[in-house]
Amino acid sequence: MSIISFEYFPPKTAEGRATLLEKTTPALQALNPAFFSVTYGAGGSTRDSTLGIVEALCAHGIDVAPHLSFGADDRDTIAALLQRYREMGVRRLVALRGDMPSGMGGASQLVYASELVAFVREQTGDHFHIEVAAYPEIHPQAESYDSDLKFLKRKLDAGANSAITQYFYNVESYFYFLDQCAAIGIDKPIVAGIMPITNYANLARFSRNCGAEIPRWICQRIEGYGKDQESIRQFGIDVVSQLCQTLLESGAPGLHFYTMNQIEPTRQIRDNLGL
Ligand code: FAD
Repeated sequence: MSIISFEYFPPKTAEGRATLLEKTTPALQALNPAFFSVTYGAGGSTRDSTLGIVEALCAHGIDVAPHLSFGADDRDTIAALLQRYREMGVRRLVALRGDMPSGMGGASQLVYASELVAFVREQTGDHFHIEVAAYPEIHPQAESYDSDLKFLKRKLDAGANSAITQYFYNVESYFYFLDQCAAIGIDKPIVAGIMPITNYANLARFSRNCGAEIPRWICQRIEGYGKDQESIRQFGIDVVSQLCQTLLESGAPGLHFYTMNQIEPTRQIRDNLGL
């Protein structure tokens, strides 16, 4: 049975935080997700705001998976954060290398996710279910397709339980990726990351940086709608619903929605799936 989960980022304002907790969360919780995850700015740039949202969600009895990276932090800082999460009742983490925000130090400070997974296991044993990131269209800094697969296996072998992918719109890239993972002995679930299409300009910019491809036919269709936001919105819902339907029918173990802290279009896509 496929699970669904929802991702948040920590809002920057008190108003955004109130909306997320009081409006968005009850609406999305009604869709029965297995958990909510909350992103983390590597280098600790969102340490307090991530912690604050995680704490508030935990206080409502919601299963939360904080994202976590070493960034420029030392082992003691991360160990203390893990301890805080344990005390709050957190049982799941998303362990990442992260990307360093500009102005927060050089790339040399980034610690590979496999090392973080090993550290979490060393510190906390089996307490946490650990998710890691996977890239069906390959991480933009990867040396090669095969090396990226090898390093995904390393993260899972270090003790991660499952993976969540970067978003993609080419469904073949995901199933090919699963086959390649299986061929090198990866047998843990690889959940599909789903990015609803909301703000196309932002999505196009972000996709260029994270190495996710928006197929030409989707770009052409959206560009053809010009300023007609309603048609873009409806097209986005249809395309992503169809993608999710195909994924579920073909055996994807779960769908992880990058909600962008919005109720729609995630709710409409989920409704279209009739889960
Ligand atoms: P890693 O698995 O460490 O890999 C990073 C790169 O190094 C890859 O190219 C890999 O092939 C290579 N590599 C790995 N190990 C080695 C090694 N031993 N030697 C040489 N090369 C190696 N970013 C954030 O800042 N905050 C978030 O909250 C966040 N959440 C995310 C959630 C999901 C589900 C996904 C898919 C991504 C998320 N990201 C987040 C983005 C992510 O941090 C970036 O993609 C980052 O560049 C890589 O992180 P990683 O954990 O995949 O890195």
